[in-house]
Amino acid sequence: MVTPTHLIVGAGFAGSVCARELAEAGKQVLVVDKRPHIGGNAFDVRDAQGVLIHPYGPHIFHTNSKRVFEYLSRFTDWRFYEHRVLAQVDGELLPIPINRTTINQLYGLELGKDQVQGYLDSVRVPCERIATSQDVVLASVGPDLCEKFFRGYTKKQWGLDLSELSAGVAARIPTRTDDDDRYFGDSFQFMPAQGYTAMFEKMLDHENITVRTGTDYREVLDGVAGAHIVYTGPIDSYYDQCHGALPYRSLSFEHVHHADTPLQQTVGTVNYPNDHAYTRITEFRHLTGEQHSGTSLVYEYPQAEGDPYYPIPRPENEALFAKYREMADRESGVTFVGRLAQYRYYNMDQIVAAALKAMEDHLAPAGA
Ligand code: FAD
Ligand code: UDP
Repeated sequence: MVTPTHLIVGAGFAGSVCARELAEAGKQVLVVDKRPHIGGNAFDVRDAQGVLIHPYGPHIFHTNSKRVFEYLSRFTDWRFYEHRVLAQVDGELLPIPINRTTINQLYGLELGKDQVQGYLDSVRVPCERIATSQDVVLASVGPDLCEKFFRGYTKKQWGLDLSELSAGVAARIPTRTDDDDRYFGDSFQFMPAQGYTAMFEKMLDHENITVRTGTDYREVLDGVAGAHIVYTGPIDSYYDQCHGALPYRSLSFEHVHHADTPLQQTVGTVNYPNDHAYTRITEFRHLTGEQHSGTSLVYEYPQAEGDPYYPIPRPENEALFAKYREMADRESGVTFVGRLAQYRYYNMDQIVAAALKAMEDHLAPAGA
């Protein structure tokens, strides 16, 4: 290939959007990913039985950003899909986010729509300054619902108590007073009709983009002298953990297929806040709408060691990240963007927005 002007480290959402933006601006882009495929954690593929699955856990696209939705629509058609989740609590399967149905079913009540807020006000523990995830949950639903739905799940997922995590973690889950049982409230909720990998293939299909999977960026550095680097991996790895390792939460995924059976769950995901070592089970055909004689599911087991999947939002980790960000801010030849490079608990749409912004800034004429 022509000498690259840009080296992109990582072919996930962050890297692929940056690659496309640079290619369309006439730059020569080399994208490398150390994994044997594109798509990062959003990669999807058919399992041995031919069911489309997400090897790195269930990915459901949702956004309030028209810009992000329209941008991705250049590379995929969509399938309308609103994700629903049930939580197994006290032997029952109840809607999460907590809504009117959850409360009525759990406590044997018959609260009308105009009575739910009053009920929540009677159990919630007001908090003057919300700092932790425990503050968020207690202030919205009070101690009993906190124990039943949040404390155990959070301990399993993060290895930490709710009180040890920043507010933003639990604040991802709203509380509803109506019967809305959708997991997300966003205005755009869709799955890529042919899957995520097909969408990434289109995004990276440009005459100015070369992709090399199964390649660590350190292997190619000598050949790309002078190229600007867009780095989307863990920021502490870029700096050889010189300030110490940033903590990440990992997962192990158990994928199972049941042959010749109908769907096993009534909704896409069932959460297990208080039972089992896994946090949740997701059945892919709900997400993709595919027809098949069997069904494939994934069990998620959180763990400390392994591939980094989640930054862990808490003040001491923010402080450590700030040291790396200071170093990153001083670089003129490297752009850091993505969930692990920015150490932010970002969803896919937020990564797309961050990547578009980063490239807008990077490509803006100096002094503009
Ligand atoms: P990644 O997808 O992690 O891509 C970074 C890439 O960099 C990786 O492929 C990695 O191999 C590569 N890399 C790292 N180091 C090197 C190196 N030295 N050399 C070469 N390559 C390197 N978001 C949603 O919006 N909805 C969901 O339902 C959802 N579900 C999720 C479920 C799970 C279990 C997880 C873990 C995340 C979920 N997310 C979801 C978040 C979503 O995965 C991320 O926001 C998004 O994929 C991050 O994209 P990224 O490009 O920043 O990072
Ligand atoms: N959470 C919980 N119980 C649930 C669902 C979520 O306690 O049934 C908390 C938990 O701390 C979790 C966080 O809310 O890590 C965010 O949940 P989300 O489903 O957004 O997590 P993700 O899909 O990113 O793993």
